[in-house]
Amino acid sequence: MNNIQSIRGMHDILPAATPTWRWLEQQLAELFDAYDFREIRIPLVEKAELFTRAIGQATDVVEKEMYAFPDRNGDTLSLRPEGTAGVVRAAIQHGLLASPGLKVWYRGPMFRHERPQRGRQRQFHQFGAEVFGLSGPDIDVELIALGERIWKRLGLERGIRLEINTLGDREDRQRYRAKLIDYLSPRVDELDGDSQRRLHTNPLRIFDSKHPQTRAIMTEAPGLADSLGAEARAHFKEVCKMLEGLGIAYRINPGLVRGLDYYCRTVFEWITDDLGAQGTVCAGGRYDDLVAVQGGKPAPGIGFALGVERLVELLAHQGRERSQAPQVYLVCQAPSIEGLRLAEELRDQLPGLRLACNLGGGSFKAQFKRADRSGAQYALVLGESEVAAGLCQIKDLRGDAPQETLARQVLAERIRQLLPGLSAD
Ligand code: ATP
Ligand code: MG
Repeated sequence: MNNIQSIRGMHDILPAATPTWRWLEQQLAELFDAYDFREIRIPLVEKAELFTRAIGQATDVVEKEMYAFPDRNGDTLSLRPEGTAGVVRAAIQHGLLASPGLKVWYRGPMFRHERPQRGRQRQFHQFGAEVFGLSGPDIDVELIALGERIWKRLGLERGIRLEINTLGDREDRQRYRAKLIDYLSPRVDELDGDSQRRLHTNPLRIFDSKHPQTRAIMTEAPGLADSLGAEARAHFKEVCKMLEGLGIAYRINPGLVRGLDYYCRTVFEWITDDLGAQGTVCAGGRYDDLVAVQGGKPAPGIGFALGVERLVELLAHQGRERSQAPQVYLVCQAPSIEGLRLAEELRDQLPGLRLACNLGGGSFKAQFKRADRSGAQYALVLGESEVAAGLCQIKDLRGDAPQETLARQVLAERIRQLLPGLSAD
């Protein structure tokens, strides 16, 4: 029989890669803590309607990319293509919006049926942040500052730049929509098929087209900036001023409209040139109408989501992958129970120690070879005579410190001295 393979665009994350993932995940969790965010965990599956309502019908995500399927009871369910809609649903459902200033973050897999290519998977992972009840520009700026701090913490700040824009308020976009339709209508035949269809449903989204000819037409399009109302204009000006106050470099990109319908006012993307065509590592913006659209008491919102696969690739690109190795490898030439017993003793005494116990026997030579290949810094050597005398040897596998023979009672203490990073416990 032939082997069953994983689904196209849905990747295994193999043991060689998981140390980098775990390191990255830990850094991000710590940074969200540092900005006083709380974690929220929401289901991978929701009613499909949640996404069609929140994200909008005339969007790539809903039109083409959603994994939707009938449940056994006839409901249409969907694998979540993004996190914001579910977070908003949960916040309304559990009354989390009662007091303003809720700050939450989430992580996990998202699912979109798009064409798999570099930087685009069908199952991919995001970390995201959402903030509710704050309408001022300060939170926009804090979220951007958090993004910048993330790149710094990961050592990626040199390759990632910030683009921002404002989409104005709903009325501003209505006004602009009419102008855009006027501009595009005489050129409709030159647009790609998707954009032709969107001309009257969602013309702003034509800015998102990847089609070269459409893009060329859009670079000449009238700008949204001229249609902005006074409040949206003041909000954006303040955002820019505060970014400058924090020394955060940005570029205003008038063509930045973001893929989902719910955005208004500030939108932003963090972009790199090191990943080929899919260079956006993080994207976000304000969505002041979304809570009301989802049936909640109106409350402004703002958030971002970052793509973990793209960050992992950037880390690899800069040679910053992590690896995992045991610190100590226990070589045992006595009955296996003696090796297992010593290993358990050490795990009791040194809970943080990464210890590999030789399993499956083997000659001294074979075991030392495995110890070396494991990447461990030290080998512990336990032979029949050591067991009888209550001793154990420590051998430095990477340096030339002389081999030591120690009493079992002081072994844990000695390992602690040799591995100063070990937690004291
Ligand atoms: P794009 O214009 O590239 O399709 P998007 O607007 O669909 O992006 P968002 O929904 O804003 O992307 O998602 C936020 C981030 O999640 C992206 O900037 C990217 O880093 C990541 N991301 C989105 N879709 C994918 C995917 N299919 N595979 C891998 N990462 C993705
Ligand atoms: Mg997309």
